[in-house]
Amino acid sequence: MKKNWPNVYKELGIKPVINARSWVTVYGGSIMKPEVINSIQEASSVFVDLEELHEVAGEFVSKVCGSEMSIVTSGCAASIVLMAAACITGMDRDKITKLPNTEGMKNEILIHKGQRNNYDKAFEIPGGKLIEYDNESLEKKINKKTCAIAYIIAPFFDEGIGLQQTIEIAHKNNLPVILDAAAELPPRENLTKFISMGVDAVGFSGGKGIGGPQSTGILTGKRELLEAAQLHSFQNLHTTKAAIGRPMKVTKENIVGFITALKLFMEDDEILENNLWHKKAQLIKDKIKPQDGLKIYIDDKYPNRQGPTVILSFESNYEGPKSEKIIEGLSNNDPKIFVGGGLNDGHAYMDEVHIFVHSLEEVDINIITNKLNKIIQSY
Ligand SMILES: *Cc1c(COP(=O)(O)O)cnc(C)c1O
Repeated sequence: MKKNWPNVYKELGIKPVINARSWVTVYGGSIMKPEVINSIQEASSVFVDLEELHEVAGEFVSKVCGSEMSIVTSGCAASIVLMAAACITGMDRDKITKLPNTEGMKNEILIHKGQRNNYDKAFEIPGGKLIEYDNESLEKKINKKTCAIAYIIAPFFDEGIGLQQTIEIAHKNNLPVILDAAAELPPRENLTKFISMGVDAVGFSGGKGIGGPQSTGILTGKRELLEAAQLHSFQNLHTTKAAIGRPMKVTKENIVGFITALKLFMEDDEILENNLWHKKAQLIKDKIKPQDGLKIYIDDKYPNRQGPTVILSFESNYEGPKSEKIIEGLSNNDPKIFVGGGLNDGHAYMDEVHIFVHSLEEVDINIITNKLNKIIQSY
């Protein structure tokens, strides 16, 4: 059995890869369901008033999130830009048009030093200045120029003093907490959880666990902040000159595709979905040939954002190739196979191989396990 190579990619000379590294940006986010693709096609057949569509889409998202107001953005990174901009300017139209020049404005955004990451540039795009704090220094770093406290939830990131306590300290000092929770779906409960904990705004990716177009995302939260964010956004096509969010366009097709994906995501039974993923994980585990000292198990803790995951770890009597060699060998395959673990995976180095199963088809599973068995036995 060979992996499907769609003509559109064949003509461009681009080969599909096997993504066992979860809904990561670099391999294209997620695979959209046929219903999502169909809705995009339908949406593309007529013109609409984009502001009206944005309005309705935002209301739908707010219902799902139990929040006061929402914006469908061009991705979580765009959500970060807009929420940072909103914290810097509030509703002041004069300030809004001045961004990214933030001279004389409150522009300092506090961030835990263990939560610095590849996406935090987005807080600075509208003119924000990231100021690092550690577990002891949050309150000490708050001053007249502080406009927000950023918080990032992602695997292997430092939780610092925790989200709840961060919110308490922020609110005691009249500051908003703006949260990047891009890839924290599933579990679906996170759509409402952070809002109900009291964060002022939160961003999620639309093109990861939700399964929408890769260039979509959610910004949701308190009305006061979201109204300011909207003035900065692409959505505000008429009333603001030179909005900082103008380049972060969300098309009618993307809005409709995203809403369809979000509806399907909410309808899916998370337990059934998890059971299905567990079966795939079990199949992979069964197909890997046992070796002395090679520990193969399924990390099944629930809710786990990426579902049941096959983990390979290595005991002291194991003599074969370990994570780096295995990951390299898999990525040199035709088609290329990408897995998690090793140096690859966010902040942590783990001498483990992590196989995320949710996006794998049967053919992928066969290709992965065949290659994996060859690599492991070649030593
Ligand atoms: C993926 C990700 C982003 C960016 O999200 P997009 O939807 O791709 O813009 C930001 N922060 C974190 C932690 C992410 O994992």
